[in-house]
Amino acid sequence: MIIQPKIRGFICTTAHPVGCAMNVKQQIDYVKSHPSIKGPKNVLVVGASTGYGLASRIVSAFGAKASTVGIFFERPCENKRTATAGWYNSVAFEQFAKAEKLYAKSFNGDAFADDMKQQVMETIKKDLGSIDLVIYSLASPRRTHPKTGQVFKSVLKPRSIPYTNKSIDFETNQVIEVTLPAATQDEIDQTVGVMGGEDWEMWIDALDQAKLLAPGIITIAYSYIGPEITTAVYRNGTIGAAKDHLEQTAHKMDQRLKKRNGRALVSVNKALVTQSSSAIPFIPLYFVLLMRVMKQKGIHEDCIQQIYRLFAQRVYQGKDISVDSAGRIRIDDLEMRQDVQDEVNKLWKNVSSQNVQQIADVKGYDEDFLRLFGFGIKDVDYGADVNPDILFD
Ligand code: NAD
Repeated sequence: MIIQPKIRGFICTTAHPVGCAMNVKQQIDYVKSHPSIKGPKNVLVVGASTGYGLASRIVSAFGAKASTVGIFFERPCENKRTATAGWYNSVAFEQFAKAEKLYAKSFNGDAFADDMKQQVMETIKKDLGSIDLVIYSLASPRRTHPKTGQVFKSVLKPRSIPYTNKSIDFETNQVIEVTLPAATQDEIDQTVGVMGGEDWEMWIDALDQAKLLAPGIITIAYSYIGPEITTAVYRNGTIGAAKDHLEQTAHKMDQRLKKRNGRALVSVNKALVTQSSSAIPFIPLYFVLLMRVMKQKGIHEDCIQQIYRLFAQRVYQGKDISVDSAGRIRIDDLEMRQDVQDEVNKLWKNVSSQNVQQIADVKGYDEDFLRLFGFGIKDVDYGADVNPDILFD
């Protein structure tokens, strides 16, 4: 099958197995070209197939030689439909890990469900004995509550009043004005139900009860803060309410885990092109401006650079983990630097359909977006006939 990108709105409905494998390999090569990390030995990554979770799995395995268990929700190849990028990434990850004799086990299914937690814990018990790092990197539009069966759906809206600002339409590359209506209380609650900390805590509780948390256990979930431009829709929006809940959950669990030399923390990461972030209104326009400024200053980072720095310089650097006044790890330091934000703000005021291609890195965004699905990668022959039905060993 010859596989080409098919883009619908902010998703690409095809993925390229060879391109995805190359993408994973490039991230592995990045980690291997940096000093190894005296880090965790047995790692569980929830949301391990793309974006920040995949990078966390790669840094754990190839930076710290850890055994990894990864959970994700991806679709295998069906008839003429390719598998999702996260499927191909994970098959490739396992192959690369096993080639270096690194233990890697993957679970495809709903991480919110009790039976998935049970299956994963049985494997940990049998194969690893315990876990010393749990990364929680889920991004999902919905969650079925495992006890009540209620289905929560997340929305991306401001919380109190409607919000209007500039946004970019990537189909036409026009800068348009978008107004988002304010969320109802029910929409806020549902978004917290999906992206808040309840499921993270359920995972830690379940692992704890099964005595699978090693002494000194560290667990980290990912959050975002961002600049004033995106505050109304992000930090003060429905997703921000969920992130507040995630952070409160971290504080609560941290008190508990500290008693056994462990930690539960939130890491505030940088805005990046991932399958989830491209769906958030206003963020992509901010992001193409940010990318341009950070590249010009030579400080642009992708998921793998962020997570390598998180492990090597924040969490496993041999000292206490440094956190901000609200108890969060900050690896968004370069994005939030005053000089970077001042320049992005200036560009934001002036950006229009006429100049967006010149003053923003639209080309870089398009390239990164395609890369997520394994397209536009050097040395991949996109004219070649490839087997889309790649399976785990
Ligand atoms: P992503 O879309 O690349 O990855 C999401 C992962 O969750 C995938 O592995 C997917 O398979 C998995 N998943 C989704 N639903 C699932 C389910 N029901 N069961 C099992 N697995 C499921 O997302 P990302 O952008 O890497 O985001 C990960 C975390 O990082 C999120 O909490 C996000 O808010 C946070 N974050 C993202 C950014 C950004 O700009 N992308 C910035 C800061 C923080």
